[in-house]
Amino acid sequence: MKSAKEIWEAALGELQLQVNKPNYDTWLKDTTGVSYRGDIFVVGVPNVFVAEWLKNRLYSLIKRTVSSITGKALQIEFEIRPPIAGAHSPPTYQSDGGTSTKLREPITAPKLNPKYTFDTFIAGESNRLAYAGALDVSEAPGQRYNPLFVYGDTGTGKTHLLHAIGNAVKDKGLQTLLISAEQFTNQFVVAIKNNSVHDFQLKFRSADVLLIDDIQFLSGKVQTQECLVHIFNDLYADNRQIVFTGDQPPQAITSIATKLRSRLESGLVAYISPPDMETRLAILQAMSNHLGMSIPSEVLYFLATQFQHNVRELQGALNRVASYAKLSSSRLDMQLAKEALADITSKGSPRSIVPAPKLIINTVASYYGINPGALMTRQRDKKTNQARQVVMYLLRYHNHCSLAEIGRILGNRDHTTILHGCEKIAAEIKVNPQLNETIKEIQHTLRDKKV
Ligand code: ADP
Ligand code: MG
Repeated sequence: MKSAKEIWEAALGELQLQVNKPNYDTWLKDTTGVSYRGDIFVVGVPNVFVAEWLKNRLYSLIKRTVSSITGKALQIEFEIRPPIAGAHSPPTYQSDGGTSTKLREPITAPKLNPKYTFDTFIAGESNRLAYAGALDVSEAPGQRYNPLFVYGDTGTGKTHLLHAIGNAVKDKGLQTLLISAEQFTNQFVVAIKNNSVHDFQLKFRSADVLLIDDIQFLSGKVQTQECLVHIFNDLYADNRQIVFTGDQPPQAITSIATKLRSRLESGLVAYISPPDMETRLAILQAMSNHLGMSIPSEVLYFLATQFQHNVRELQGALNRVASYAKLSSSRLDMQLAKEALADITSKGSPRSIVPAPKLIINTVASYYGINPGALMTRQRDKKTNQARQVVMYLLRYHNHCSLAEIGRILGNRDHTTILHGCEKIAAEIKVNPQLNETIKEIQHTLRDKKV
């Protein structure tokens, strides 16, 4: 009979053909065949993250492959076996000041943008709570609002606020780490590959203030979430400040495991809504001061009316008008502004960043195969009832409608009925994977149809 080592080498040869290269290199390359007794085949893996990933993602493929090589139906077990130095020799992580010449991918975090400060952030009705929370966090990190979770649509100033906190606490001499969830994930994968997960975690655990941008990127990334939970627990227990941003409130990010989600929502959750008229005008005014230009107020008003949802777009529009005036050496007036923006301004209603309630209702109804009108009636069969509650949930967490507003949209229902519906779905998706999946699909459809 072949040894476990030989069987596993044959299995790796086959797996290499069935798994893409990055996955093979990250998760399988440094594994070994440990033992084969009875119907148990033991695979040696370098660390617990690899074990979990293989168990969750590749278990049946590995089982099939090994069973076909041995001609026997086997169970697969994973055992942590740190690689022997010099055997496979993956690049090793050297602690600070190490003299090794071995290369490793550096674990770096992005630099703070010095332009994104509290001074350059215009506070207004739309961002009042998030702004106050961020300011408080930077004055007394780890003491009151921990974690702080700021969410809102794109271009509403979340990243700006995150950097503003970072810049403010850095000036206090605190160890500050700002990273996007995407970079966090990438660096985690590199750390696994390099067997340097411990150092990876250590780096984040050493932060006095940890700022993580766009947490929704961790959706579905089970191991990375698990790793972040450990880091969170350590920092939190030590009163170190953690701040997250996301595009939805924690309870609506359905593909983040409950363990992490409950931590995200355990402190202050603050919503930034699209900027109100006054804030938009103030932002434009501050920008024109910065550009050293005097722009007629009717032009500022025109821009603020045309670009209502996204500060990035608002700034882009002002920049475009300003450069158009410069290039054509013309006076910056209404006519020039309209010309400069002719291809992007709308003649009718301004562009909407959240799906219209009607779109949500129609999408959900078509998903459930019912008539949209039924959602506004008192019809109470199981299907219609659940579809109606899903609409309530989406209107609340996608569109941030008030309970009263949702009640009106859905045929004048009482706000307690709406609250019950939203809570029911929020609770149900935690235990019902099928509903969770349904909502994710509807959210995708809405995202595709929105713009
Ligand atoms: P988000 O991370 O929410 O997508 P950003 O923080 O990247 O948005 O903001 C987009 C742009 O708009 C940035 O240049 C930012 O400085 C600017 N911005 C957003 N909100 C404000 C605000 N309230 N005051 C000043 N600038 C803002
Ligand atoms: Mg951002």
